[in-house]
Amino acid sequence: MEAYSYLPLLEETGYIPSMKFASGFEIMEHCQNIATKFGFYDKALFHTTVEETQWDESIGRWIVNTDRGDNMKARYLVVANGILTTPKLAKIKGMETFKGDAFHTSRWDYNVDITDKRVGIIGTGATAVQIIPEIAKTVKELYVFQRTPSSVDVRDQRETTEEEYCTWPKEENWAKKRRARFAKISSGRTALSANDDYLSGKVETAAPKKKHKTQLSPEERMQKMLDTNFRIMEQIRERVDAIVEDPKTAEALKPYYAYGCKRPTFHDEYLPTFNKPHVHLIDTAPRGVQEINERGVVHDGVEYPVDVLIYATGFQWMATSTFDMIKGRDGRSLKQTWAEDGTKTWLGLQTKGFPNMFVVTGPQGGGGSFNFTDTIEDHGEYIKWMLQTMAEKGATVVDVKEESQAEYAEHCAKADTATAALRDCISYYDHEGTAAPGSLVYYGGRQWHKIRTQGQETLEPYVFDGAA
Ligand SMILES: Cc1cc2nc3c(=O)[nH]c(=O)nc-3n(C[C@H](O)[C@H](O)[C@H](O)COP(=O)(O)OP(=O)(O)OC[C@H]3O[C@@H](n4cnc5c(N)ncnc54)[C@H](O)[C@@H]3O)c2cc1C
Repeated sequence: MEAYSYLPLLEETGYIPSMKFASGFEIMEHCQNIATKFGFYDKALFHTTVEETQWDESIGRWIVNTDRGDNMKARYLVVANGILTTPKLAKIKGMETFKGDAFHTSRWDYNVDITDKRVGIIGTGATAVQIIPEIAKTVKELYVFQRTPSSVDVRDQRETTEEEYCTWPKEENWAKKRRARFAKISSGRTALSANDDYLSGKVETAAPKKKHKTQLSPEERMQKMLDTNFRIMEQIRERVDAIVEDPKTAEALKPYYAYGCKRPTFHDEYLPTFNKPHVHLIDTAPRGVQEINERGVVHDGVEYPVDVLIYATGFQWMATSTFDMIKGRDGRSLKQTWAEDGTKTWLGLQTKGFPNMFVVTGPQGGGGSFNFTDTIEDHGEYIKWMLQTMAEKGATVVDVKEESQAEYAEHCAKADTATAALRDCISYYDHEGTAAPGSLVYYGGRQWHKIRTQGQETLEPYVFDGAA
């Protein structure tokens, strides 16, 4: 995701990222600037984990308990706990016997100096694709243990030009407009082919749309999409052949699934890294690493001794463990409610029995685009609208109707099923194939906005208590 469209509040802070894909350090500094500018430091409780949140009907408040012994009351609860926050740890036979240093990527141990060390990295997903080219510059030997290859497309990293620094801020809401243009084209690989002229508004269309003389049937449309999908994947596979010199390594690095099945990645240095003599790809498909001993990783009877082992094994998708901490009107947790009744929400933001609570980017949460900043802004706007509406109505409590959330859940399931052929695979997006259709990611695209607008205009889905 390009930083110009991803980083929030660029106009408000008067900032323009220095690179098309800003570094983690730059993103961190931007977050700190936002916190300073809007006075968040005085309001935030850092290093504090919410352990339980319970709705108290008698006072119409959420009781929020933290790991620091806080017991707070809140009229409204916004759950913005992230979609990929909790590290997913591998359970591998013998991993606890490893004598070297080991850590998960999201808990990087900066006390460990990897310079000139033998390093093993387990996993080749979005995080590993970013890490591998960097650590390969420092370590003595790098063993990359791959279960499934990522699809790695062109990134075209570049510095922001002088012209961009000068011209962009002259356009009112330049970043919001750019984000909106990006949202229009990011529902596939089109974002890549979109050049900066389109994203910066110099030209009106990213690519001319083909007009069909006759109306396509749903089956024909699906077949066309599948054909396009296949062509994209072929290009991604051809790119591996064009870059990676060793044919066996190249073969193993080729993603074999449909585009969008696994999270697509983009990098200019990842594939060339495998041409370095000290970087070794160990293909552990289909089961992944099964054994670790005190010296390192064992695969197919071969031992790979390492000094440092990095687990790039990803994150829990949609943080279901957090939803287990939130208890609604009937004392059941959100997780339990969804498990027992099926995942039913209104727009992904509200769930019956959990009054005055809004889940940002949770299951069934649509809006925006693949750019989460966009989605978060849409969800933020919705919450703002709801609070204003409640103030206008003199309402203190809002809940949603069973029929509205059931109808919306059905729409989510239909949208998921209708587009499933395009993904047709097992990935974290569908909880490794175990998620019921429509219970996690929202696949209805812009329809979310239509449904939201209808609900906001009619107020039909809502039950307001305490209204004047
Ligand atoms: C490797 C990787 C690559 C990604 N790439 C992209 C990308 O290219 N584009 C994109 O749009 N998105 C990407 N994402 C998704 C990314 O998570 C979101 O874009 C964005 O971070 C979501 O912001 P957020 O504020 O909702 O959640 P987060 O940034 O995850 O913040 C959630 C916060 O909630 C806190 N929290 C959670 N539980 C509790 C609790 N019980 N008590 C207190 N605090 C709690 C966490 O500590 C964290 O500070 C990527 C994620 C990962 C892991």
